[in-house]
Amino acid sequence: NKSINLKQRPVGTPTLADFDIIELENNLNVSEGEILLESKYISVDPYLRGRMSDAKSYVPPFNVGEPISSGIVAEVIETKNDKFKKGDFVSGLLQWKEKQISTGEGLQKIDKSKASLSAYLGIVGMTGLTAFLGLHEIGKPKKGETLVVSGAAGAVGSVVGQIGKILGLNVIGIAGTDEKIDMLKSEFGFDYGINYKTTKDMKAAIKEAAPNGVDIYFDNVGGPISDAVLFNINQFARIIICGAISVYNKTELPMAIAVQPFLVKNSALMQGFIVSNYAEKFPVAMKQLSTWLGEGKLTYKETIVEGFDNTPQAFLDMMNGKNKGKMIVKV
Ligand code: NDP
Repeated sequence: NKSINLKQRPVGTPTLADFDIIELENNLNVSEGEILLESKYISVDPYLRGRMSDAKSYVPPFNVGEPISSGIVAEVIETKNDKFKKGDFVSGLLQWKEKQISTGEGLQKIDKSKASLSAYLGIVGMTGLTAFLGLHEIGKPKKGETLVVSGAAGAVGSVVGQIGKILGLNVIGIAGTDEKIDMLKSEFGFDYGINYKTTKDMKAAIKEAAPNGVDIYFDNVGGPISDAVLFNINQFARIIICGAISVYNKTELPMAIAVQPFLVKNSALMQGFIVSNYAEKFPVAMKQLSTWLGEGKLTYKETIVEGFDNTPQAFLDMMNGKNKGKMIVKV
């Protein structure tokens, strides 16, 4: 049994030296009311970068010398808790350990006949909910409108764009390789894609893609990409600030005020979004996502990295754009 701990707080871009793989005791004693879990799939997510720092945020930081935690799908291999039986699969926030004891609190039982186990970390899990609820609750999409999605080829972005198409929007995606741009159009049905790494004038490229302007911007990345989108917004545009991965590794944040006049003049709404604030809407959102999946209206992509020890590398690779769709570790 092993665990992956935060060895030190990364400064700037994290490296493998920030993580420690620790050998743990193999004999775990299950007490009354507890279950023994074996990790099957581990989610690596951009927000974990924030938890590796000690800056105050909406989730507490990880402690140095202790295991990292994230969304994990695990199998119950021993149980002294009536609510769980051996062979059940659960998902929830768990530690980066091959095996661990839990009381079961906060864990959801999952049904592998309804979706693949890994999908509970993505499309029918946190990132799917983020896409659905962020777009609906703040984006308030109306048929015929134009939606721009940044981080479009990732776990959240690829689902946002597809939901946009289901709802009859004109959808433009921004991502970092030509292969990802092709995938947005051929697999996810986006109308238009822009490679931000090879496009010199992003402002002009967005204007060309959205000649009638942008009504909704689902922002996963922040920074100059977002400034370029905001220069192109329409009256009463809605801007969902879901993430800002372009600045997560920055030690100093750039000051950007150039776009504020565009928000004023267009009476635009810009609002931060945190999926956990919408927990009461999860059942409805999950039902709709599952229905669309079942009907084939929604599809998803995963990049699966094999091996528990490769979890830190998978995290670094995801931050670097090596993933298409949801980045997941198969233990
Ligand atoms: P992704 O699957 O989208 O993976 C991250 C992607 O970010 C990479 O593949 C890479 O793609 C892109 N990226 C990395 N660096 C940059 C950069 N400098 N500029 C632009 N793009 C970059 O991750 P998720 O779908 O899990 O998360 C997407 C965003 O949503 C993150 O910002 C995350 O924090 C946020 N989020 C927010 C939630 C909330 O409740 N608020 C919940 C879940 C996620 P590329 O090749 O295109 O560069």
